[in-house]
Amino acid sequence: MAETPLYCTNHPQTETLLRCNKCGRPFCIKCLERTPVGYRCKECLSIQRAGYYTATPVDYVIVALVGVVASVIGGAIAALLGGIFLLLSIFYAPFAGGIISEAVHWSIQRRRGRYVWLVACASVVVGGLIGAGFFPLVALLGRGLGLLGVLLSLPVVAVAAVFNLGFLIYIVLAVGTVYARLRN
Ligand SMILES: [Zn+2]
Ligand SMILES: [Zn+2]
Repeated sequence: MAETPLYCTNHPQTETLLRCNKCGRPFCIKCLERTPVGYRCKECLSIQRAGYYTATPVDYVIVALVGVVASVIGGAIAALLGGIFLLLSIFYAPFAGGIISEAVHWSIQRRRGRYVWLVACASVVVGGLIGAGFFPLVALLGRGLGLLGVLLSLPVVAVAAVFNLGFLIYIVLAVGTVYARLRN
């Protein structure tokens, strides 16, 4: 025996076999949109989209903090690897970027924000710079140059850190990974 025909909620004259898989109401093919999770009606879709970006302003602060701290460590390791372990750097950088993405995503309880990727990428660069300068700076401090001497050497440290091949690989590949993982 045939099932009782369904009629589209918006078009009472149009018979259909489809339902919105969220609210369960019957709709014709014109009133539904195909999504990765099945057919959805326009009403359910607009509710879903409004709730898509749920990150709060505090989340952005957390993203920046977590990103910078994680990347200080990431950048310091990258600078240590340097250009000597070139191949290792190439494997290390995306791996570090993946860990940073996870840490960032987890820290805001996987909420999504339109600009989370941007803040995360920026904090990877900032943290990476601090991290890359860390060991050269400690080395300088160890030489007993005094505060003034260290301050005067800072630009040299910064330039040396930036032109460290391991660090450059890290910035490009880790930022690329964070971008790819967190963009939405
Ligand atoms: Zn619906
Ligand atoms: Zn319809």
